[in-house]
Amino acid sequence: MGEYIDLHLHTTFSDGTLTPSQIVDQAKKCNLKAIAITDHDTINGVEEALRSGEKEGLEVIPGVELSAEFDREMHLLGLFIDYKNKKLHNILEILKTHRENRNPLIVERLNNVGIDITYEEVKNAAHNRIIGRPHIANILINKGYVKDMHEAFDKYLGVGKIGYVKKDRIPADLAINIIKEANGIPILAHPGHFRKTAKELDKFIFELKEIGLMGVEAYHSDHDEETTKALVKIADKHNLLISGGSDFHGEHKKHIFMGTGYGNMKIEYNILENLKKVFN
Ligand code: AMP
Ligand code: ZN
Ligand code: FE
Ligand code: FE
Repeated sequence: MGEYIDLHLHTTFSDGTLTPSQIVDQAKKCNLKAIAITDHDTINGVEEALRSGEKEGLEVIPGVELSAEFDREMHLLGLFIDYKNKKLHNILEILKTHRENRNPLIVERLNNVGIDITYEEVKNAAHNRIIGRPHIANILINKGYVKDMHEAFDKYLGVGKIGYVKKDRIPADLAINIIKEANGIPILAHPGHFRKTAKELDKFIFELKEIGLMGVEAYHSDHDEETTKALVKIADKHNLLISGGSDFHGEHKKHIFMGTGYGNMKIEYNILENLKKVFN
């Protein structure tokens, strides 16, 4: 039996539903050998996860998933970041402000179409931490406006829908540089979400490499075998590192499991070993 890892996990510090310690417990139960905590635009869950990992004997990699822009919204994973880095903290403050500017506007738009929801409720749902659209979606589900997350994005929160408000984004090169400043490895998250052809992805990823990208998340719950293969090939061609993770969000994405995604994903420990070679 191989040894497996999961390098893309969300906790209650962003829009996941398990605390960092619960994530560590579950990873142990899943027999994972290492995990990375990659909350949206915050590192506040990292310390608890590191402590818990040490106690439970699980390797925990400090990470973050930054929202950035390169033509369109894209997510950059920063693995192995020094989560105490000052410049990183400054950027995270800016990203938090972008969310704080956006979220009340989403609520307002929903109110305008007769939906009973307050910003107070949203903040409470997120325990005053990083608020993401899944928190808002969850309220819509609980109040019976939609039946599930999918419908919430489809009807109200997705790009172009009635409750969609674009948040200000930082440019990709800035996000990449900050991750590097903090000694992290910048990795393009879930490239499959762009719905580009292999050829388009190749071009896009090469452009990002030119501004400092070091790796691509080839293994991800939403990638089919073909996408993963194409990404591994692109990474080899451009001398980029490969990463992989489930993008587990707990109950906010019920169908995605830690470690295995929709059920049959496996990410070998040697993926992590290759990433670590950067520091040798
Ligand atoms: P935000 O960071 O507030 O813009 O919310 C983005 C997060 O919402 C993503 O990271 C996903 O976790 C989730 N999300 C985005 N689009 C969808 C969708 N169509 N269905 C379910 N979850 C989504
Ligand atoms: Zn999320
Ligand atoms: Fe993402
Ligand atoms: Fe994610």
